[in-house]
Amino acid sequence: MLDENHQRIECRIKGHFRTKGIKTTNPIAIGDHVRFQLQPNENIGVIEHIYERKNYIIRKATKLSKLSHIIASNLDQAIVIVTLAHPRTSTGFIDRFLVTAEAYHIPACIIFNKIDLYQEKLWDLHRNIKSMYEDIGYPCLEISVKTETNIDQVEKLLGQKTTLFAGHSGVGKSALINKLEADINIKIGNISDYHQKGKHTTTFAEMHELSNGGFIVDTPGIKEFGLIDFKIEEVAERFPEMRKYMHECRFNNCTHVHEPGCGVIKALQAGEISLSRYENYLNIISDDYFNEKQYQ
Ligand code: GDP
Ligand code: ZN
Repeated sequence: MLDENHQRIECRIKGHFRTKGIKTTNPIAIGDHVRFQLQPNENIGVIEHIYERKNYIIRKATKLSKLSHIIASNLDQAIVIVTLAHPRTSTGFIDRFLVTAEAYHIPACIIFNKIDLYQEKLWDLHRNIKSMYEDIGYPCLEISVKTETNIDQVEKLLGQKTTLFAGHSGVGKSALINKLEADINIKIGNISDYHQKGKHTTTFAEMHELSNGGFIVDTPGIKEFGLIDFKIEEVAERFPEMRKYMHECRFNNCTHVHEPGCGVIKALQAGEISLSRYENYLNIISDDYFNEKQYQ
């Protein structure tokens, strides 16, 4: 834990903490704000209270488990780092990330890295994809960690905020974090989530403090914060551009696939919704997750 002077204090937990509405495997998570009491003659604190979380992202402890694991809390924004160079991030990956962020009501941004590798053709593709996301309302940055292009814009974006970083392996997430740390003289050492040792070795998130007052929560990948207790009819609500047209659907449980009088399909045909996003929507709703749920 960090105290009011930004000193790192090791803390223990006293008693039981419950999270309203869900059963969790970890009482305390990365990003929690707590009240703790420093023990006399010891450099150890005892956590007495967890302040109400503004938001939190969770995953199920196991696929069919009723227990959830809180990955991080009190996030101001979520950023997915992607690249159209190598290894190329699919829009399917991006859309799953955005849907998850929407589900948690966390503002999302996209950072396109490795633009130093873009050739003319890739720039064309990039411009199309970027404007598609900007039109929906997601801010986009284009950067190169290698040539240090627009790193200052990333710094600006992170100042005073707690930001979740996601991205699949190889996009340059670590390189970016190292660049940010070196540039702004980040404090040495991480504030790591030591509770995740042992039973839950697959989940690992770390929090880094930035000297501009921001915090980065680094997660290993989108799979770690999957959708929980999501109904199939709710998925379209997580696509802001579909949400706009849903009220025009004839049926209020419309899945926007084959139903007559569907406002979303009408908007798709009119070019108001991009085919790429719609296809990724179809992909998400055909997930095993929903198919298994239907038979429960
Ligand atoms: P992570 O798995 O997302 O953490 O990716 P890394 O930070 O380990 O980077 C993966 C590879 O991409 C490394 O070889 C980096 O040197 C390289 N890389 C990262 N950023 C850039 C960039 O902006 N341009 C280029 N050309 N390579 C980059
Ligand atoms: Zn519909």
